[in-house]
Amino acid sequence: MIDCGEGTQTQLVRYKLKYNRIGHIFISHLHGDHYLGLMGLLSTMHLQGRTTELHLFAQQELMDIIELQLRLSQTVLRYNLIFHPVKNYSGTVIHEDEDLTVTTMVLNHRIPCTGFLFREKPKPRKLLINKMKQYNIPFQFFSGIKNGENFEDDFGKIIPNEELTVSSGKPRSYAFCSDTLYMEQLADEVKNVDLLYHESTFMHDLLDRAKATFHSTSIEAATIAMKASVTKLVIGHFSARYKDLLPMLEEAKMVFPNTELAIEGTKFIVNEKK
Ligand SMILES: [Zn+2]
Ligand SMILES: [Zn+2]
Repeated sequence: MIDCGEGTQTQLVRYKLKYNRIGHIFISHLHGDHYLGLMGLLSTMHLQGRTTELHLFAQQELMDIIELQLRLSQTVLRYNLIFHPVKNYSGTVIHEDEDLTVTTMVLNHRIPCTGFLFREKPKPRKLLINKMKQYNIPFQFFSGIKNGENFEDDFGKIIPNEELTVSSGKPRSYAFCSDTLYMEQLADEVKNVDLLYHESTFMHDLLDRAKATFHSTSIEAATIAMKASVTKLVIGHFSARYKDLLPMLEEAKMVFPNTELAIEGTKFIVNEKK
């Protein structure tokens, strides 16, 4: 989960997302709209009897806030909350497992603010089981073939890897750029990602307002997407003044056509595998 605003629990229930599927929470910064739902969520997980550990990535001060609340309510969480302090510099890998890496991107906001870049690791190729049988390939060769090796049969004939395997698909990437002023260098950090979320608090006529409040406009978000050659841009964090978001979308699309609005409950597929 990335950021956890006040309505998070209501929305999890509404969209039938299971609390226990959340193992890692990333918080971009300590403005209320990005984390005020967290204490409630942690508390509900505790009351529901969660025992699996939960990893939290955020600035150190958030842990101070959580510890204070737990101490004053004399609550000892039933599960292990593992805190990973996020330092305010870019390009740091803060999480890595067998599937992906998560890297930070420092943003330019009124208070320290971090974006997160999720990159899937390349997966080994998939074996074609009928080919394994056809060429009588012994089990001990499988892992080499998954990693791209050819196979040589008993008669010295080379069976090329492409005949024995199929690709597991291109590794996917997703960049979450939370509240920020326009930062041209972000385009380098999110270069070629499959899906870019970039805030777009204002339309471009309110550029001065965006600058004064350390936010971005639709045109600016789309410019980052265009310069970074991402596949798809999702814009969000709209100012409450916009009742109709279509003009905002149209404006962004003038710069980067493959843009969508981050409307509550919308599902975006990150480079669907073929
Ligand atoms: Zn903010
Ligand atoms: Zn915000």
